[in-house]
Amino acid sequence: MQQSPKVTIIGAGVSGLCAAIALKNAGITAQIIEAQSSLGGRVQTTLKDNLILDHGFQVLLDSYPAAQKYLDLKTLDLVKFAPGAIIYKGGKSTKVGDPTRDASFLWATAFSSIGSIKDKLKMFSLSRKLKQKSLKSIFEAKEISTLEYLKQEGFSEKIIENFFKPFYAGIFLETELSTSSRMFEFVFKMFSEGSATLPSTGIAAISIQLARQLEEGQIQLNSSASRVQGSKITMDDGTQVHSDYTIIAGQADRLIPNLPISNLQWHEVTVLYFKTNHKGFGKPIIGLVADKGTLTNNFHFLQDLFKGHDNVISVSVVKAHEHEEHELAARVRMELKEYCHIDLGEVIEVKKIKKALPNLRNINYCMESTETQLTDHIYLAGDHLSNGSLNAAMLNGEVAAQAVIDKIEGKVLVG
Ligand SMILES: Cc1cc2nc3c(=O)[nH]c(=O)nc-3n(C[C@H](O)[C@H](O)[C@H](O)COP(=O)(O)OP(=O)(O)OC[C@H]3O[C@@H](n4cnc5c(N)ncnc54)[C@H](O)[C@@H]3O)c2cc1C
Repeated sequence: MQQSPKVTIIGAGVSGLCAAIALKNAGITAQIIEAQSSLGGRVQTTLKDNLILDHGFQVLLDSYPAAQKYLDLKTLDLVKFAPGAIIYKGGKSTKVGDPTRDASFLWATAFSSIGSIKDKLKMFSLSRKLKQKSLKSIFEAKEISTLEYLKQEGFSEKIIENFFKPFYAGIFLETELSTSSRMFEFVFKMFSEGSATLPSTGIAAISIQLARQLEEGQIQLNSSASRVQGSKITMDDGTQVHSDYTIIAGQADRLIPNLPISNLQWHEVTVLYFKTNHKGFGKPIIGLVADKGTLTNNFHFLQDLFKGHDNVISVSVVKAHEHEEHELAARVRMELKEYCHIDLGEVIEVKKIKKALPNLRNINYCMESTETQLTDHIYLAGDHLSNGSLNAAMLNGEVAAQAVIDKIEGKVLVG
C-alpha cells in the first residue's frame, strides 16, 4: 500500500493553522511545528489577575472574507467597537464617527473641528466608492503612499493631521502614512462594510478556535526548526524530521539561506496596561491623541469591552522608541494627564512587539497558489507575503495548502 505523503507546517500562527485546516478538509493531516510554548503567533492573549491582556491592540474586522470562511464569528462572541473615535488635541476632545451606522455620532461629527464639511462629505463618498470597488481592483491599482492618496482624494491637511494620521497610525503601526494606498483602500473598505471587533475573551480566541478545528496532537509546541533542505527539517536540537512537503508559515529566511524575501523590515508597537480611576467611555470606542510629538497613539478602556475589567486602560505607543519600560510608562502617564486629563495609576503590564506588522511594498491581496511553491518540497505562507492582516495570513495559509494538495493529487505538471 502506498504511504500517504508527510506534510509539515512550520508555525502555528493564523496562517499555519489555516493551512492545516485547508489540508484537513482535503483529507491530509499535517503536523505543525511551533517554536513557542503557545499557538497563535502574533495573536496572543494572557490572563493576569483575571484580566484579559492582548499582546498588542489588534482587532478582527468582521468583514474580512477569510474570517467569515474560517471562523465561527458567533461563537467568538465579538464585541464591536463604535465606528468612530474620540480625538484629543490641545487638551480638548471631539467625537467623530460614521453617523449612518451610529446616530450618536451625528451632531458631534457635523460640528467637530477635525476637518471641513467638505472633508466629512468626502469621507462618506470615499466609503461609498470603496464599498463598490472590488478587492481585485483595489490590489491592482497603482500603489502610492496613503498620505499621497489622501491628498490626491482632496482631503485637507487638517483632517489628515487630526484624523487620518492618528487613526491609521494605530492600524498600520507607522506614523507617516507611508503604507501602501492599496492597504488603505482595503482597510477603509473593510471598515465600511463591517466592524472592528474583539472576541469577548481576547484576540487569542481566534487562534484557539482555528486550532480546535484540527485533530488533537497535530500541533507540537516548543519545537523550533533551524533549517529546511529538500525533504529534511533540522530542528534546533539537531534532530532531523522527514517531510515530503513543508509549508513554512512564518519568516523563512532563518530556515533557508539567501531567500529573496530576506531582510524583511517590521513595524513595532508597545502596549501598556495601567490602572486608572477613569470610568471609561461607556461604550467600546478608541481614544486617539492627535497632538504632534506625543508617543501615545491610541487607548481604550477594558471595562468598555470586557466584564469585570473596571479601572484598566490599554495604551498603544506606535513610534519606535528605546525607552526602558518605567521611562515609557512615565511618559505615557504624563501625556494622558496633559492631553486627555486622564490619571493613570500603576502599570499592570507592558508588551513591546518588535515584529508586529511587516513593512511591505508592492502588496497583494493574497498569493496565487502556484506562487507559494519555493522548491519541489517547500512552500511558503504567512501574512508577510501579501499584506499585514489576519485576512492575508488566513488566505496565504489556504493557498499554500492548496498548492500542496495539487502537488499530491498530481494536478501540477511542473515542480
Ligand atoms: C500588535 C499587532 C496588531 C495587529 N493588528 C492587526 C489588526 O488590527 N488587524 C489585522 O487584521 N491584523 C493585525 N495584526 C496582524 C496579524 O496579527 C498578523 O497578520 C497575523 O497574526 C500573522 O499570522 P502569521 O501566521 O502569518 O504569522 P505569525 O503570527 O508571526 O506566525 C508565525 C509562527 O511561526 C512560528 N515560527 C517561526 N519560525 C519558526 C521556526 N523556525 N520553528 C517553529 N516555529 C516557527 C512563530 O513562533 C509563530 O508562531 C496585528 C499584529 C500585531 C502583532
